[in-house]
Amino acid sequence: MPTEPKLDTAAERRVARQMTRDAVRKSAPKLHTVVKYPDPVLLKKGEPVTEFTPELAQLVEEMFDSMYAAEGIGLAAPQISISKQITVIDVSFKERPEDKLVLINPEVIDRRGKQLEEEGCLSLPDIHEKVQRDAWVKVRAQNVKGEIFEVEGTELLARAMLHEIDHLHGILFIDRLSRLKRDLVLRRIKKLQKHGDW
Ligand SMILES: [Zn+2]
Repeated sequence: MPTEPKLDTAAERRVARQMTRDAVRKSAPKLHTVVKYPDPVLLKKGEPVTEFTPELAQLVEEMFDSMYAAEGIGLAAPQISISKQITVIDVSFKERPEDKLVLINPEVIDRRGKQLEEEGCLSLPDIHEKVQRDAWVKVRAQNVKGEIFEVEGTELLARAMLHEIDHLHGILFIDRLSRLKRDLVLRRIKKLQKHGDW
């Protein structure tokens, strides 16, 4: 009589567990709800990450899934109510796997020039305004293993990194607008809230 296959070693059991996890994730990725302005979590600084665990790697994957589901090219942990210094970016939106970027505890260490382009944010749906950003930036961050690396970017990548790093400090792109423009945007949001469209 055939017996059930037995997983004898810890390594085999670990592989089996991972396969189950992968299967579950592929069939139904855990999607986090993206919170909207003025949720307080968006307005405070995220805590630095100090432990680089499998749970952190899992969270990062869930952040990519949630970002793609929301059709964004960047997502910061505070946007899913996790007040930590974690952000994921993919400026090519799944086109080029090498564009998938994870920045943990990032800081801008060099910047040059200016660019002025339209920006939006998953936490401020339907709001689009031109924002001035650095044209080129160099960022130092940690990856999911805690290894320190540096990444440089221009154009959309520079903009995305700066936008997401701002999120980790409680800053939204509307905070980078002139007082007048920011007030107009806030008035528009109030109106949308009043009509239940926010
Ligand atoms: Zn944003």
